[in-house]
Amino acid sequence: MTRRSVIPALVAHGGAGPAVPADERPERKRAMLEAVRRGADILKDGGDALDVVVATIIALEDHPLFNAGTGSLLTIDGSVEMDASLMLAGDRSDSGETAGGAGRISAGAVAAVGRVRNPILLARAVMENTRHVLMVGQGAERLARRAGVPMCSNEDLITERARERWRRLRDSVQLGIPHAPFGHGTVGAVAIDARGAIAAATSTGGVPGKIAGRVGDSAIIGAGTFADLSGAASATGYGEAIILAGLCREAVRSLTGAPPATAARRAVTDLLGAANAEGGIIMVDRRGRIGFAHNAAMQVGVYESGAGIRHLWPDPVAIVKSAAKSSRRT
Ligand code: ASP
Repeated sequence: MTRRSVIPALVAHGGAGPAVPADERPERKRAMLEAVRRGADILKDGGDALDVVVATIIALEDHPLFNAGTGSLLTIDGSVEMDASLMLAGDRSDSGETAGGAGRISAGAVAAVGRVRNPILLARAVMENTRHVLMVGQGAERLARRAGVPMCSNEDLITERARERWRRLRDSVQLGIPHAPFGHGTVGAVAIDARGAIAAATSTGGVPGKIAGRVGDSAIIGAGTFADLSGAASATGYGEAIILAGLCREAVRSLTGAPPATAARRAVTDLLGAANAEGGIIMVDRRGRIGFAHNAAMQVGVYESGAGIRHLWPDPVAIVKSAAKSSRRT
């Protein structure tokens, strides 16, 4: 089989939502650049796309300002329930196969899990250590122990900031008064390595005010995360709309007729816009071209060989409101 030479690339997002408070922006930017640097270092060393997206996500899960891993938003009951997923198209370099040529896809996901510091590592354990794609509950926790995924107490994952936000939300729900929007910080990454293997990963604490047991798009392959040999996507935003649209799968499928920038924009305007839902998507294609689009505030970190690492707060595309009842996140 001939080895295809590709220009490696990595894109990461830090969640779509209301505008980030000015005093948080510098630290979010620093954290995003550091996360992308970790992934880019692996790409520069000739590493695997899967290792790249996992390293990028772990850096963001470990940062308390992001709504994933440590710092996750809480359920309305005050508990931590995290969703994460990843998907790989093509083979790892250590498999002895030519990556990207075999048509191989694999995925792993976990929903509503606690007690693990990095849910993305547990999603990876599902992919690599089981015949399954999506695991929940005690079985997922047992797998974490068996696979050596670092465990912690749920208290370790709850920051004072998340608890304070939960208190405000709970009080406003009890009093029946509207609460200020918040919830920025789901994390996602997509990458292509030099052998043409393509990966996507997403991790979140979910949406504010979610009821215990709710599972969002970030755990659902095809919705919040998707990769095939034409490209990869990771989404953020109002999860119920993203699931109904099958957003990431639709966006990746449209790469056959459009570059990632166009596919991402169409996904946000046509699919999220049709549901009046806030969100965003990042994409990479098999040629190493990147794209992103969002209709709410979203930060993006990018590595492209040649251009290096950069950070953006790109302008959102406008939401075209339909007459239908709004389903936007509050
Ligand atoms: N999509 C995530 C969810 O619905 C939340 C987000 O991206 O902000 O759980």
